[in-house]
Amino acid sequence: MRERVVDVPAPDGWGNAVIAVREGEPVHLDMRLESLHDGVLVSADVSTVARGECVRCLIDVELPLEVEIREVFAYSRDEAFDYDVQGTQVDLEPMVRDAVVLALPFQPVCQDDCTGLCPECGVRLLDNPDHEHETPVDPRWAALAGLAEPQQIDVIGAKSDTEEEKR
Ligand SMILES: [Zn+2]
Ligand SMILES: [Zn+2]
Repeated sequence: MRERVVDVPAPDGWGNAVIAVREGEPVHLDMRLESLHDGVLVSADVSTVARGECVRCLIDVELPLEVEIREVFAYSRDEAFDYDVQGTQVDLEPMVRDAVVLALPFQPVCQDDCTGLCPECGVRLLDNPDHEHETPVDPRWAALAGLAEPQQIDVIGAKSDTEEEKR
């Protein structure tokens, strides 16, 4: 059995537009290689950091990732195995990339209870949970605001007419 601990930079972006281990991000690999009669068993503990945006409030998030891998690299191409030994080498990068991409969240959030952005002003609600807006957006209030226009002047005019008649 051989053991190796290495730190290598991610060779390119692993992930998607929302969250990824970016190119050059350090990837720590703690590996054990054991030979089997038909291949090499590779066990690896991988740790790295994925970066992206919270899908609710859009701030940058850093997500530490710890992934455990156990894969057989077959000596001969075999459909039973995803990976094979090429010559005398095993190319670990596709295996590590596959495992890391699988471990990425579909909807990364800055914290589980992130409440997102205010629908009116776009402020991040976690930063400013109690803020209020002076102009209410409730459409019923918007309709009442319209009453202060010409109709109300008519009503005042009508009142003064009746007052004059009483005199
Ligand atoms: Zn958030
Ligand atoms: Zn707001």
